[in-house]
Amino acid sequence: MKENHMNNIPFLNLKKLHSEIQEEINESVIKVVNSGRYLLDKELLKFEKSYSEYENVKQVIGVGSGLDALTMILTALNIGKSDEVIVPSHTFIATWLSVSNIGAIPVPVELNENTYNINIDLIENAITTKTKAIIVVNLYGQVADLEPVKNICIRNNLYLIEDAAQSHGALYKGKNTNSFSDAIATSFYPGKNLGCMGDGGAVLTNNDELAIKIKRLRNYGSDKKYYHREIGFNSRLDEIQASILSIKLKYLNDMNKKREKIANFYLKNISNDNLILPKKLDHVDHVWHLFVIRSKHRDKIAQLLLENGIQTIVHYPIPPHRQECYKNIKFKKLDLTNQICSEIISLPLYPNMPESHIEYIVEKVNAISNSKL
Ligand SMILES: *Cc1c(COP(=O)(O)O)cnc(C)c1O
Repeated sequence: MKENHMNNIPFLNLKKLHSEIQEEINESVIKVVNSGRYLLDKELLKFEKSYSEYENVKQVIGVGSGLDALTMILTALNIGKSDEVIVPSHTFIATWLSVSNIGAIPVPVELNENTYNINIDLIENAITTKTKAIIVVNLYGQVADLEPVKNICIRNNLYLIEDAAQSHGALYKGKNTNSFSDAIATSFYPGKNLGCMGDGGAVLTNNDELAIKIKRLRNYGSDKKYYHREIGFNSRLDEIQASILSIKLKYLNDMNKKREKIANFYLKNISNDNLILPKKLDHVDHVWHLFVIRSKHRDKIAQLLLENGIQTIVHYPIPPHRQECYKNIKFKKLDLTNQICSEIISLPLYPNMPESHIEYIVEKVNAISNSKL
């Protein structure tokens, strides 16, 4: 009999990821539905408190999305028109959009090709008198090298903002990353390491004053109903999402361990000279949001894997500086970013992924020979 079950290996199966906790989530959602209270109520407070304890940070403010979290941080720090914000050249576009949304200019810095995170050595060259902040991104789940960036920020009087949308639960030198950043933005988009079942995000900070401003901004610029101090947003993490996140938070460490186990299996067992495997720095955590490999033959590899039923995705095929929305800004040359974006490809990796899939992927990746490329 022909084996059919390997014909469809999805990149991510959220139903499978939730399989062990689905009942608990269902009960909780029904409880919120029956409560009649859907916004800015006790489920949000409960999640904000438990996430702040988990991340060892003073304040967590639940908001509508990761992009909103970044945009509101920049707004609350009074960054705006004609200011410059340094961003990684290689990231999901939302990092850049937050800067553009407030009328400031994103100034890209090339990546470090070992970690895919911002190249620390090139940051200071990009600073001008207009620079107000640096946004670092913990791309693919690996924390950026925060300490040197923090020192650059201190020397140049800049804010350090961390985009931690891909790195829930990751530590830097054994510490929670908020001990370095002025504020952290994160996302609870369903596919993230800590994901809800819709859109969601949060701001994390040890700065109480900043937290008060973000709370006001997320709620139409108001701290008292119908009194509006600022031009605000409508961007709240709703009660249903907050209740789901409280449950998923309990399993985050376990889920991250499962990711790590799969990543280690890939690292140990994938062996193919046509590929470069991801590298992990010793002093930072990697929570394996994505397992990204690199090859000059990326497109062909994607095609060969797909012929074997394996779905892959490229994160990200077109870097922000080459997106149509930025066609009117002239950026400096970003050759390495362009090259990397043509070479990277992400393999399936998620908690509760069937072992048979993991082994099959290794087998098929190892079978890609020069003669096929
Ligand atoms: C997902 C993501 C965001 C945006 O989060 P949303 O909740 O989708 O708005 C921002 N930055 C990075 C690096 C991301 O991966």
